Amino acid sequence: MISYKSEEEIELIRQSSLLVGKTLAEVARIIRPGIKTIELDKVAETFIRDHKAKPAFKGYNGFPYTLCISVNDVVVHGFPGDQELKEGDLVSVDCGTLLNGFYGDSAYTFAVGELDEEKRLLMERTKESLYRGIKVAKAGNRIGNIGYEVQSYVESFGYSVVRDLVGHGIGRNLHESPEVPNYGKRGDGIMLRQGLVICIEPMINLGVRQVTQDRDGWTIRTADGKPSAHYEHQIAIIKGEPTILSSFDEIEEVLKEKVN
Ligand code: MG
Ligand code: MG
Repeated sequence: MISYKSEEEIELIRQSSLLVGKTLAEVARIIRPGIKTIELDKVAETFIRDHKAKPAFKGYNGFPYTLCISVNDVVVHGFPGDQELKEGDLVSVDCGTLLNGFYGDSAYTFAVGELDEEKRLLMERTKESLYRGIKVAKAGNRIGNIGYEVQSYVESFGYSVVRDLVGHGIGRNLHESPEVPNYGKRGDGIMLRQGLVICIEPMINLGVRQVTQDRDGWTIRTADGKPSAHYEHQIAIIKGEPTILSSFDEIEEVLKEKVN
């Protein structure tokens, strides 16, 4: 069953989601070659708790950390740890918050130092695919339209779409109906309507679409060891149109300052 949200509920979800963006901006500030991924996790957890919220992932089905940090061939759900990031790493950081009873969930892929051309393009095009998916998330369209846009765009570059993991509804629960695949056909699936709140989160592989899971029960990797990128926005359908509740603005301001 899908729970459609009132405009008041959507405002509360937006607050939670904006806190995720601010948390990821704190990660953006300190991510660099030589930092251990567990250090990013600690900064994020402290920041979320300082803002009277809870890290949504910590304890979720036993997930032990605040962030999912997924480096290079790790697609999603990577554990933070003693691994030091190095120049040329592509790092997806996924973060969730629980604030005033509502969940925020968003993800961004960072470059550590300079990336090679292949990884840089994978990142750019994965982010572009997210916005293409969002654009068609309007009332009257169907869930398959979103996946169609993402899939047709990234496959035109020879990339592949992960099938085993999908986006999702969100609200008082971190994962709600409906599922939001990043592949599909126009006109397939449920009709989109007022009050739907979903996370759209393309996971795009440079090589094959198949993935494997590590023995930790969480870490998802590409089967061929090639890199994967992941961006996630949380959106609501308001007055028929897709409205992005999360924000990459603070993250991208920080990244711009770091370059200049
Ligand atoms: Mg997420
Ligand atoms: Mg999600």
